[in-house]
Amino acid sequence: MTYRFCMACGGRLRRVRQEGLDRLRCRRCGWIFYGNPIPAAVALVVRAGRVLLGRRANAPYRGTWDLPGGFLEAGETPERGLSREMREELGARIRSARFLGFFHETYGPGGFPILAVVYRVRLAPGPLRRGSDVSELRWFPRRELPYRGIAFPSVRRALARFVAHRVRGKGRGK
Ligand SMILES: [Zn+2]
Repeated sequence: MTYRFCMACGGRLRRVRQEGLDRLRCRRCGWIFYGNPIPAAVALVVRAGRVLLGRRANAPYRGTWDLPGGFLEAGETPERGLSREMREELGARIRSARFLGFFHETYGPGGFPILAVVYRVRLAPGPLRRGSDVSELRWFPRRELPYRGIAFPSVRRALARFVAHRVRGKGRGK
């Protein structure tokens, strides 16, 4: 994605080099577009050795498998964002969440940068209620994860890290 216009005044942006990094700066008012990543809270939900994936109902990557989660709202901590997303996407409450890792990503091909904060989550018992962002929810055994049907590289990496930890006998807690 190429940004062309200033968010402050609508002037044209021009690529400049600043502190060794490429930036976009407004020719008119000097406003700089930094392209910082947008944080997202993401849940690797585990229940009885299975991992919950949702099929994306929207672009980008509509129809592919994804971990539940979403972008943080202003003023939200990752933990609060995670709780909100679990309510909205799954109709579920979190019983426990443990930090798994940070993952860089772009939101679709050429999309804006994301910093995904991924948690390993156990939900409170009860049926799941699917939100509108997801067309299907399915539990996958960790040896049968559909890597080829997952579009976001960060999701494949998070799942691979989770599976590797399990194989090495780590990360077993609750
Ligand atoms: Zn401007």
